[in-house]
Amino acid sequence: MSFIHNWLRADIQEINAYHVPCSDNLIKLDAMESPFALPDELISQYLAYLADAQLNRYPSPSAEELNQTLRDLMDIPKEFGVLLGNGSDELIQLLALACDTDDTILSIEPSFVMYDMIAKFTRLNYQGVSLTQDYKLDLNSILESINKHKPKLIFIAYPNNPTGNTFDRIAIEKIINMTDAMVVLDEAYYAYAGDSFISDIAKYPNLVVLRTVSKIGFAGLRLGLLISSQEMVSELDKLRLPYNINILTQVSANFLLKEKDEINKNAAIIIEQRQILSDALKQIEGLLAYPSQANFILFKAPKAQELFDYLKANGILIKNLSGAPKLTNCLRVTVGDNDQNKQFISIVKEFYSLKMNNND
Ligand SMILES: *Cc1c(COP(=O)(O)O)cnc(C)c1O
Repeated sequence: MSFIHNWLRADIQEINAYHVPCSDNLIKLDAMESPFALPDELISQYLAYLADAQLNRYPSPSAEELNQTLRDLMDIPKEFGVLLGNGSDELIQLLALACDTDDTILSIEPSFVMYDMIAKFTRLNYQGVSLTQDYKLDLNSILESINKHKPKLIFIAYPNNPTGNTFDRIAIEKIINMTDAMVVLDEAYYAYAGDSFISDIAKYPNLVVLRTVSKIGFAGLRLGLLISSQEMVSELDKLRLPYNINILTQVSANFLLKEKDEINKNAAIIIEQRQILSDALKQIEGLLAYPSQANFILFKAPKAQELFDYLKANGILIKNLSGAPKLTNCLRVTVGDNDQNKQFISIVKEFYSLKMNNND
């Protein structure tokens, strides 16, 4: 047996690593990235701004300017605290690190896989509660599971990934009210949704909201936010590694995220494209597109695996969920720009017309 296999925790050896498929030369519609690159007219200004970054120094430990930039961009009231993470993934991990041995993380299924993975990394218990057949919250099962497992942390992605929908707000408020757990509303897709729990932070001491800039055009920066009461943030801040937001991210974000109009304009284009894409998918016979409040669409398609392969062979990468529990024959496509979406739809149509003609 090799050294590492003797040495490593057995439960970690059993985990499958988070798999990121190769996307070279493919149109990337698999990871909810924005299709919009930096506008040309901003590039030279941005580079001049970057040139001032003092790479020989540690970055600002509290990242105050960046904190303010994000508050302005996302309209976060000043009475709330904001904790920054190297992506919101880091903040999910930080919340897990704040738990005690034997504590339980509860989430819904299907949802974002990192809640379960991070529970495993940090040796916490994980409890998943199934959504209903049409991916709605099953409030009774959730309340039952809370009573039975007494979770310390509850994650609800709102809108949910990979299903794309938001949930009944009243049901979520009931959960927040009845549990002793910290309830984390993960609003990674806030820019594409019609609702948010940010203002509810004032009402509920056990409510935390997560956001990220990954899905609004800046996945490469790795920058996420935890928003809650000032008191909660100052306690949780003890678990943050010093200088977790590197100087290139801080400087870049302070320049790029001040372009609020541009960012909002791009989000509006994606929302418009989402409607066009969803309508086009629904017109394809046999295909079921789920309603989305995010920048992606989950759809159920006959011969999903074959369709996925056909798209890839024709230069388009989407996400294949067809083998995952409760997602039989489901694929997830990120909303791209007009050209990308058109290409995607035309290849999907081509696939089904070939299939029909072959009659298999
Ligand atoms: C993409 C995603 C994240 C990860 O965000 P990062 O800031 O890139 O780490 C978190 N939560 C959900 C629900 C997501 O879909």
